[in-house]
Order: sequence, then C-alpha cells, then structure tokens
Amino acid sequence: MILPIVGYGDPVLRKVGVAITPEYPNLKETIANMYETMYNAYGVGLAAPQVGMAIRLFVIDTTPFSEDDDLGSDEAKELKGFKKTFINAKIVKEEGEEWSFNEGCLSIPDVREDVYRKPTVTIEYCEEDFVMKTEVFDGLIARVIQHEYDHIEGVLFTDKISSLKKRLIQKKLKNITEGKTFQEYRMKFAAAKKGR
Ligand SMILES: [Zn+2]
Repeated sequence: MILPIVGYGDPVLRKVGVAITPEYPNLKETIANMYETMYNAYGVGLAAPQVGMAIRLFVIDTTPFSEDDDLGSDEAKELKGFKKTFINAKIVKEEGEEWSFNEGCLSIPDVREDVYRKPTVTIEYCEEDFVMKTEVFDGLIARVIQHEYDHIEGVLFTDKISSLKKRLIQKKLKNITEGKTFQEYRMKFAAAKKGR
C-alpha cells in the first residue's frame, strides 16, 4: 500500500526515532509499504518518520543512481540492486574528507542543495531478522544512509546548509508546510491537519 509522505513542517520529522523490537505491530507490512511508497515516488531512500512513524527504521534502494552516466562501471555495479532495510541503526563512525553532493528529499519537494558529509560510515544495524551487525559503507551508498539516518534523528538536509542558503529557500519551505506544492506522489502536510 502506498502511504502518504509527510511534508516539511510536520513535527514528526523532528522527533528522534525510538528503537523497535520484532514484535512491533505490522512491521513486515510497514516495511513492504515503505518500499512501495519509495518506489512510487522515485526515491532512493525513505525513513519511517516520513510516513508518520517516529521509529528507527529506514529503507534504501540505490538502483536509480546506478544509471548515472558519470559513474565508473564498478560503482554503478555496486549501486544497482543495493536494497536494504535498516532497523535500530546507529552510526558509530564517520571518516574521511567531507564531499558535497546535491541532495533532495521526498518530504521537501522541489528543493535541492549541496550538502557536505564524510565519505565513509560505520553503522550498527539489523535487517528484518533482527540480528545486529556492524558494516562499513562509502560513496553514494554511505550518502543515502547518512541522509536517511538523519531522518531517524529528527534532522533534515536543509539543517546542514549555510544560513544564506536557508534564507533563500525559506519561502519554499513555508509553502511546503502549508501544502502549497503539487507532486505526483501522495503527500500529507502539517498545516492541513489544523483543519485548513
Ligand atoms: Zn529525506
């Protein structure tokens, strides 16, 4: 089932997600719905707060990035079919020299900004089997993980840009908060909840 994606301005996007157990209600279905919602919106990642749940869960599929012509064949191969569910994730280390990448977010449509992040990330997480493991990722995969991980910490990519750039997009953010945006995918807005 495709779920509505929560737009910028909704308080759920600012909550720190709580850890979950295998008994979390309808977990399998929730994960399946999140993948369906992400693919429907042509996203490469989606975090639970973006569908209204402040829990430590996000899904990733970097396949769309593998079609980028600028990539070497090794990197493209790595990105194609990289599909993974991250439950109860915790970033334990970020390393290397920060690099910028033009990020976007399904909750913040029509806004794209260069964001600086470190290239290598060590993360503890489990998949649907709830077996905790530690893995190292880098490049674009790390980038998508960092962006989604921020969501479960209540952080958005627009928090990571300069105050000048923030001022320049203020109007756009206000419009999204008020639901004044049109996307091909279903969205839900904070202001609309107040019975506007
Ligand atoms: Zn996002």
